[in-house]
Amino acid sequence: MKIGVLALQGDFDAHRRRLEELGAEVIMVKKPDQLNEIDGLVIPGGESGTFLKLLGEEGFARLKDFVRTKPTFGTCAGCILLASEVENPTQNGLGALDITVRRNAYGRQIDSSIREGRFLGEPIEMVFIRAPKIERVGPDVEVIATEGNNEGTNEDKTAAPVLVRKDKTLAATFHPELSDDRRIHKYFLDMVARGKQ
Ligand code: GLN
Repeated sequence: MKIGVLALQGDFDAHRRRLEELGAEVIMVKKPDQLNEIDGLVIPGGESGTFLKLLGEEGFARLKDFVRTKPTFGTCAGCILLASEVENPTQNGLGALDITVRRNAYGRQIDSSIREGRFLGEPIEMVFIRAPKIERVGPDVEVIATEGNNEGTNEDKTAAPVLVRKDKTLAATFHPELSDDRRIHKYFLDMVARGKQ
C-alpha cells in the first residue's frame, strides 16, 4: 500500500515514521503529479494558511480532486484544510468533510497540551498544538474520538469531537503521530486497505 504524506511544510516526518512502522510504503508528496501514485494521503499539522499559499491555485485544485476520490487523513492544520467551513479567520477549505472548524480555538494559555480522550470508546493520549475546534459536525459525519468529559464543572459538559470521519475522509484536531500509540494510523491504513478491495 502506497501512502503519500504531503511534505510542503509542518511535521510530515513523524507521520512517515509511523506509517512505515505499520508497514506502509511512504511517498513524500511535494508535486501534484505524485498524487497519481498513491492509494491514500496524510495531510500533516503545520499552518493551514501557509499550506494554502504553498499549494497555490493549481495544487489546491489537484488536492481537491484527490480528496474527493481517495482516502485522506488530515491532522490539525490538515483537518482545517479538509473542512467545508473555516473560521478565525475565514479561509478556504477543500470541503471533503462537512464540518465547521475554528482555528487556534483554545486561546494562548492552553494552546498546547497533552490530554486523555476516547477513541472508539477506549482511552487514548492526545497531543494538541495550537489546535482547532470542530464546532459543527454535519449530519453524515461520524465522531470517532472525543476529548473532555461530562464530569467537569465548566458549562460545556459534553465531550468535544476531535476525530471525525465521513466515508474515506478522516480528520483529527490533535497529533496522533506525536504519541507512541499506533491505533489511529492503523485505523486509517485499514480504511485505505478496505478502499482497495
Ligand atoms: N494553528 C494551526 C492552523 O491554524 C494548526 C496547528 C497545527 O497544525 N498544529 O493552521
